[in-house]
Amino acid sequence: MTDLYRLLPEEMEKLVIDMGYPRYRADQILLPLYYKFPKSISDIKQLPKKMIEELIDAGYTIGSAKETHRVESDDGDTTKLLLSLTNDSSVETVLMQYGPSKIGGHPRSTICVSTQIGCAMGCVFCATGQMGFETNLKAEHIVSQVIHFAEILQQRGEHVTNLVFMGMGEPMANYDEMIRSVRILTHDRGFGLGQRHITISTIGIKSGIERLAEENLQIGLAISLHAPNNELRKNLVPTASPNSVEEIIESGRNYFKKTGRRVTFEYALMAGINDSPKIAKELARLLKGNGSHVNLIPINPTAGNFERPSENSVTTFEQILSDAGVNCTIRIEKGTEISAACGQLRIDMLE
Ligand code: SF4
Repeated sequence: MTDLYRLLPEEMEKLVIDMGYPRYRADQILLPLYYKFPKSISDIKQLPKKMIEELIDAGYTIGSAKETHRVESDDGDTTKLLLSLTNDSSVETVLMQYGPSKIGGHPRSTICVSTQIGCAMGCVFCATGQMGFETNLKAEHIVSQVIHFAEILQQRGEHVTNLVFMGMGEPMANYDEMIRSVRILTHDRGFGLGQRHITISTIGIKSGIERLAEENLQIGLAISLHAPNNELRKNLVPTASPNSVEEIIESGRNYFKKTGRRVTFEYALMAGINDSPKIAKELARLLKGNGSHVNLIPINPTAGNFERPSENSVTTFEQILSDAGVNCTIRIEKGTEISAACGQLRIDMLE
């Protein structure tokens, strides 16, 4: 079976031509796929009945993911979906809304997608990391996460504005499927989201960052650093080697040179672990003058035994970075009470 959400528009065109139909039939599939969200090929009313039957007979299908559970935060700004997938697994995906925007009055609607079930990176503060790795998601599974929220938002007269690859899994460890989903979601005959509205987040896999820099895409890059030196980083991200902190920063610098897109360094702050003024100064020395941005994330309650730093230590940490000229923000928390915030995704809706 092949899900039509897996195909790039060029591949859809080739498919209809190979079936003996004119090129325009491809757009008659693509337009409904990304604007009407059909649940089966028979729902695409523009297609001749014969073509629908031929597609089904040839093993094409729609819908690799079905919503099985939905939770909303108390303020309604965060929604988490549990989707059951055709490969017999389930994945979580999250919508975060910040709004309303100054331009259109609509909120900014950011979807946080997952690229794997579980994760092999084993970050000690991350619930997904504690699950271990289960499987890689296919591009159609990643696209389907966006499509589910696009439909929910369309019913409210809203739309997806941003996409972050920060859910379960390490995107660079499932590179080919991740990049295929990015190309489908940004294609003007596909989902059509602007490349600049997408951010890929990585724990710092140098080879993946280098590949991404060569893709000729204008997408943002976020590197989860969490420590300014290799010794501390190894304790927090056990799989951190063979890429040293210096190498990761260098690959971020090269990504910026190549794409012109600013790189954000994510830094999960954990009380008594990596939040001291001494460590802040070390981080400032490391990042000073390279134009990067640091996003401080006071740790969320997760499976690990880490504590969130006091407001005072977060502000002091930020001040030290800012005083050194390092651009810095503190992440606004969304969805903590429904375990939808950073480092909290795991299949706990099933429990
Ligand atoms: S923080 Fe990201 S890379 Fe680390 S274990 Fe969690 S999902 Fe994987």
